[in-house]
Amino acid sequence: EAKRKGGARYKLFDPSMSEYAFNRMETEAGLRKAIENRELEVYYQPQVDMNSGRLTGTEALVRWQHPEKGLVMPGAFIPLIEESRLIVDIGEYVLREACRVQAAWCRAGYEPGRVSVNLAGAQLHDSGLDRIIARILTETGCKPEWLELEVTEGFIMEDPAASVPMLKRLRDMGISLAIDDFGTGYSSLAYLKRLPVSRLKIDQSFVRNSVMDPDDAVIIEAIIALAGKLKLGLIAEGVETHNQTELLLELGCDQAQGYLYGRPVPHQELELMLKSGRGGHQIVQ
Ligand code: C2E
Ligand code: MG
Ligand code: MG
Ligand code: MG
Repeated sequence: EAKRKGGARYKLFDPSMSEYAFNRMETEAGLRKAIENRELEVYYQPQVDMNSGRLTGTEALVRWQHPEKGLVMPGAFIPLIEESRLIVDIGEYVLREACRVQAAWCRAGYEPGRVSVNLAGAQLHDSGLDRIIARILTETGCKPEWLELEVTEGFIMEDPAASVPMLKRLRDMGISLAIDDFGTGYSSLAYLKRLPVSRLKIDQSFVRNSVMDPDDAVIIEAIIALAGKLKLGLIAEGVETHNQTELLLELGCDQAQGYLYGRPVPHQELELMLKSGRGGHQIVQ
């Protein structure tokens, strides 16, 4: 009960409160102000075709430009607010911002591919999500075909009876769907077949060790085979070395996102990449 209401219940100082709860409360209060004060920023990381080096899309990733702490990464605050209403507000903020920027890029004649936005469980489980997204698309002028939403298996499996129809409605609107961090969840293969997703994002933990650890390479191979049978697209996350690129291409995965091809950067910086003709063209020499 108290958990569902998020921070509201923890407002009074309680000396027995754990450091974790205190940190969470402080984070929530700070983030509420951060939205008002426009301290949240959306960074964009390139996604590429490893054969040609062409940009195929971007992933929108939130950062908190904190007045004292500097740039705070999502890993330091997203997990703390996952049970609070704030995650929905921040999710909507990121979505609106990403759609606004994407629409501007497309209007300017650049070729940014699709922009991929992460959905939190609380957003997926909100029965009004499709209406909210439809409104954001209209308001920003972003076409549904320019957008991809990323969800994890875990969030879908928390409430498949509601999640699957919602994902179908989003797909029917023309939005693409991807499974994020694939291979780390309780992948129910029976469900995967029924999910209206167009691609799987191979989790970076497998990619990281794939060159050194044959077990991880085998897992990647299995995911590639599965995607092939189910006719799903694939992208590998966390590609940092040429050896990883070589291995992935050899195994049959040609899309990647990783530091080797570009770190997440502010929209102005990604725009430079698009302007210099590298969007839709070579970004790796
Ligand atoms: P994710 O969705 O799996 O995003 C990929 C993460 O991997 C990003 O971390 C990205 O910077 C990082 N990454 C990409 N390539 C490499 C690489 O080559 N090496 C390494 N070591 N890391 C790489 P980031 O931006 O810190 O985000 C972490 C997580 O926070 C995301 O994981 C996602 O789960 C969550 N997140 C970020 N933005 C949002 C958002 O707007 N909404 C929600 N709900 N979650 C978000
Ligand atoms: Mg993601
Ligand atoms: Mg991921
Ligand atoms: Mg993740």
